[in-house]
Amino acid sequence: MTSLRHGCPAALAALASVVALTACDDSSGPPPATPYRSYTAAQQGGQPQPGQAVAPQAQAANAGPGPIGALAVGNNVQQSTMTTTSTTPLLGPLMGTQMWQQETSAVLNEQRSNLSPENQARVKDIPFVVDNKPNEINAYAGCDTKGQPFIVGTQGILEAIDAISQTVATDDLYGTQTYAAYTAQVMPGLAHDKNARAALPLNIIPLQYLAQPARISHAHELFDEIVAFTFGHEMAHHYLGHTGCAHGQPIPLMNAGALNGLLTVAPAFTQPLELAADNQGTLNTLDSGRARASRGQYRWTERGASLLLDFFGKLERSSGLATLNPVTYVQTHPPAQQRIFWVQTAANTWRLTHPG
Ligand SMILES: [Zn+2]
Repeated sequence: MTSLRHGCPAALAALASVVALTACDDSSGPPPATPYRSYTAAQQGGQPQPGQAVAPQAQAANAGPGPIGALAVGNNVQQSTMTTTSTTPLLGPLMGTQMWQQETSAVLNEQRSNLSPENQARVKDIPFVVDNKPNEINAYAGCDTKGQPFIVGTQGILEAIDAISQTVATDDLYGTQTYAAYTAQVMPGLAHDKNARAALPLNIIPLQYLAQPARISHAHELFDEIVAFTFGHEMAHHYLGHTGCAHGQPIPLMNAGALNGLLTVAPAFTQPLELAADNQGTLNTLDSGRARASRGQYRWTERGASLLLDFFGKLERSSGLATLNPVTYVQTHPPAQQRIFWVQTAANTWRLTHPG
């Protein structure tokens, strides 16, 4: 993202104490006594997990990214029929802002743990804060007036990430087209009505699938995967020194705005800085995904970034790319198609250097 009030793509989440086995649990030790379910490699949109037998179709699906923009966003009916020997923990639902906030904080902790020691130290205690703006879709990093760093996601972007996760999980498992239905329904409002929200409408997920444990669990996995990239990108702005306050530099005095009652300083980033943050956010997510796979957990790949950026690409097209575009995120970030290219390039490079 380009500039944002300094924002970037985002997503976050919440996990909850409700669910004893969350995908964000970074702790080692014995696995929790939780149910398991079969899962397909292709549904994860990435590389198979170690020891996982992959069907020919899945191998093709994981052979590498397709053409730019051809991202595995929607479902592929064939994927849902694949068999697999892989299992991942069955996760519980993420419902509401508090759980999303907790989950996102947990995902960021996991992302931190996979950074270099030097970068870990730079972002050690940076809090994730929810900006209670349901009609604004944005994420950003910045410094408060005392020079303390923070990472922010608006209520609106959390609602969007939840809806993307819920619909794509349904499509992955049942061959439905709920993501397309969701975006078709909400995009016109988001692009042209400042009071519109990205929250999932009640009529999108077929009732027979709504309470399916596998669907709920996969939605949780996707939520985490999207959040890992979205806020991993924001965290990268801090440890790369773009914000100043997490890197020992003076605080840049650029934009100022009110956030939750605090005067904040959120720098507007240039395109090279956004590219750098996308690159690092992608590498961080893939590193975390590899570590997760080694523990038998759902493997994060660049699919989370693809899902987020597909959503924003649709938003850009609905908004008409007007300079008066009402969507803050669209105003403050580089075009989604450009970012998709950056992310795919970073992911391809990562795979070349991390075989197996
Ligand atoms: Zn950014």
